[in-house]
Amino acid sequence: MAEPIPSRILVIAPNWIGDAVMAQPLLGLLKKTYPEQPIDVLTPSWVAPVLRAMAEVDTVLETPFKHGALQLRERWRFAQMLRLRGYASAYVLPNTLKFALLPWMAGIKKRIGYIGESRYGLINVMHHDDPVAPRAMVPFYAALATTPASQAPTSLPRPALHVADQQIRQVLGMLGLSAQNPLIAFAPGAEFGNAKRWPTSHFAQLAVSILKLHPDAQIVLLGSPKDNAVCDEIKTLCPAVHHLAGKTTLDQAVALIASSAAVVSNDSGLLHIASALNRPVIALYGPTDPDHAPPFSDISHSLSLRLACAPCKQRECPLGHQDCMQKLTSDMVWKPLQGILQASEAADRKIDFFCV
Ligand code: SF4
Repeated sequence: MAEPIPSRILVIAPNWIGDAVMAQPLLGLLKKTYPEQPIDVLTPSWVAPVLRAMAEVDTVLETPFKHGALQLRERWRFAQMLRLRGYASAYVLPNTLKFALLPWMAGIKKRIGYIGESRYGLINVMHHDDPVAPRAMVPFYAALATTPASQAPTSLPRPALHVADQQIRQVLGMLGLSAQNPLIAFAPGAEFGNAKRWPTSHFAQLAVSILKLHPDAQIVLLGSPKDNAVCDEIKTLCPAVHHLAGKTTLDQAVALIASSAAVVSNDSGLLHIASALNRPVIALYGPTDPDHAPPFSDISHSLSLRLACAPCKQRECPLGHQDCMQKLTSDMVWKPLQGILQASEAADRKIDFFCV
């Protein structure tokens, strides 16, 4: 079969949900610069739902590779499939060698990315970040839309995801949730490690406070199967919550977040999804830096006790007490959350009034 004339753009997405969200402004810039070229994104299956919620993406291709494995033969075979799709250029966002191999094996002429693991030859439009003052994630990725010698864009749009109303209604219906009653999403997991987790007792106490004032609220616990145990603990302490961790796909979780009146989240991928969906967000920081990748919703609160030992960036608390999270009480979170819920109720009343 003759190879097609290269006319598409391939973007190899990051392997982490939060990083994939931060890459969305790059896709927006590429779409603006090359409106005629369809954009395909290659991504691991666990990140794919985030890419499906990006308006600029034409096709999401899921990688068949095992996490962390080189699988050279499989990569070669997959690259031949890519070759047949006809790419004019490839943007390689992960910094690893193995992801830079794919577009090279696929014969894609223009291969753009950072030097990463000394990827000379594999990447032929090479960008360099400043090792002394590394860029934040959004400008880091967005700079790939420009030539390496040029100035990186100074003002960038916020990452944005979109979920269709129909999809939201479908997911709410499938999970037995009401579209009329307020939905409040908790994301109590943190893949990185225990130190980042706000205590389950605090989440449960917060749920009790919410339900006392808003008995019609539907509090959903979101997360992966790995978050089952922490969500079980919250459910035991406050049986009225809907434990959905590990029981929804990420596509469904994204739709639930899109319909939430508020999201309370540890510093995790779901936090960045909530931000990009512009939902009111309360972000809970312990061992990580609240200024590094803060939520960017119109309404957002980053809560951190900013202890002297923080940000230690450790998976487990090296001091053994995890005071950065333990001493961040549910009352401290309830106060701003109350403000968000009151504002959302007032907005709903205004809409009802106009509909009468
Ligand atoms: S050392 Fe400090 S910042 Fe790090 S986990 Fe422990 S209490 Fe939190």
